[in-house]
Amino acid sequence: MAYMALYRKWRSQTFDEIVGQEAVVTALRNQIIHNRIGHAYLFCGTRGTGKTSMAKIFARAVNCLHPVNGNPCNECELCRESESGFNLIEIDAASNNGVDNIREIRDEVRYTPAKGKYRVYIIDEVHMLSSGAFNALLKTLEEPPEHVIFILATTEPHKVLPTIISRCQRYDFKRFTSGQIFDHLQEVCQAEGIRATDDALRYIARAADGGMRDSLSILEQCVSFYVDEEIDLAKVQDILGTAGTEEYARLTDALAARRAPDALRQIGDIFMAGRDVTAFTTGLIGHLRNLLLMKAMGRDGAAILELGSEEATALSQQADHLPAEQLTWFIESLTELESRMKYASEKRVLLEVEIIRLCRGASEATDEALLARVAALEKRLDEGVFVQKGEKATPAENKNVRKEAPAQPLQDLPKVRQPKMIRTNGAAAQVLEAWPAVKKRIISQEPGMYTLNLMEIKPGSEPDQLILSSNSKIYIKQLEDDGARKLRLIEQVIMDETGAKVHIRTQDTSAAPAPEMDLTDITSLIHGPVDILD
Ligand SMILES: [Zn+2]
Repeated sequence: MAYMALYRKWRSQTFDEIVGQEAVVTALRNQIIHNRIGHAYLFCGTRGTGKTSMAKIFARAVNCLHPVNGNPCNECELCRESESGFNLIEIDAASNNGVDNIREIRDEVRYTPAKGKYRVYIIDEVHMLSSGAFNALLKTLEEPPEHVIFILATTEPHKVLPTIISRCQRYDFKRFTSGQIFDHLQEVCQAEGIRATDDALRYIARAADGGMRDSLSILEQCVSFYVDEEIDLAKVQDILGTAGTEEYARLTDALAARRAPDALRQIGDIFMAGRDVTAFTTGLIGHLRNLLLMKAMGRDGAAILELGSEEATALSQQADHLPAEQLTWFIESLTELESRMKYASEKRVLLEVEIIRLCRGASEATDEALLARVAALEKRLDEGVFVQKGEKATPAENKNVRKEAPAQPLQDLPKVRQPKMIRTNGAAAQVLEAWPAVKKRIISQEPGMYTLNLMEIKPGSEPDQLILSSNSKIYIKQLEDDGARKLRLIEQVIMDETGAKVHIRTQDTSAAPAPEMDLTDITSLIHGPVDILD
């Protein structure tokens, strides 16, 4: 038997076999059962959501001699002949976008089909039609002959003329959840005798990003590369050219510990292996996002992320020693970087600068080689290659920004949360005014105390008392460790800077009921698709 791609072989043949898309299936099946068939349909959805499979099933069902509960029998003469182009005509608008192709259809539709009730036209990627072709199609759709059905499919419905959309029954196809894809992959593996670990299949399901066809293509690549071997996670990652979770975890640890040289070395290795910079950055953001979700949701996070138990344990262990603020900051910074990368020519330099920036949030910054490297990178930034951090560049604005904006000095610290200033009397008020200067001086003396930027300062109950609060136990502990040496240092700097003698207390607000992390907030903050289980 001739070789057949998995996705073709496993294409659904009846409505019953279709995974997901229940709303569309129910509506179309009912139309067939009750014989209320329309003349124009618009199927919208991202690639791999089953639009073409659905269209073909529908096309067979409308002509089938013995439909079973709305399904095509796939055995009668008309079902079997459907692929021969008798009364099912497939047109790919991406390659036939001319007005002539549509005129041809217009001439053709006047004749009744030789067999069966309907002639069905499936026009794929209909948004690719030229405007002339669109108008020709519109004329046909205005007065469609009784025996003709148009099924227009598109991944970009906003590019389809409203006058066309208004003449069609519109159906929106949902992306598959990675759970649905995982289940389907398991079924395929079992039937095809493919050995694969659950972790590997889960990874494929997530990488396919809602597209069933892509998931089967990835599986197929794995199978053809590792013939007769069990497919495990490492093999899938190898095929996809993505860094493994372990690599992302190692880089995250280096970032969190502010070990810039380690982080840069690791990035060097990754690029030596020929990896794509943007894909790597996206993967790193994904890893950080998973850590944040695990941190916010605990074991529920593992379910949401549809992780295998091994992966979940490793993630939650790493999440345990990383403060949420820091993860949020990494995600925000890298997500911004990711969007800037699209327009930049030197993506690797851009990533390296960002890695250094993230590390310098607190590093001792004494590494001479590192400083030299930063200086060199800054010089390149000054030459106008990149967009300044913090600019929300659109492609149009981008060109201007690139030339005019000077690079942001690297010593500028990230502002994740500004301390709240409260006006009050006494020494405390004076100190609150001077706090930004105090903080700057402390951090320049002890870069590790950048965490002050992430803490709140407010007056205490006594006139000479100030309270530094944070919902991160780690930040609080950092101040109190070593016989509260750092608190004394802060008091000393305040004295030097303002002449005021104050006492500083710490307050751990992590137990306070205040800002609860809402799942919708997390997902809005996270770049990229997150499947939330109902
Ligand atoms: Zn049939």
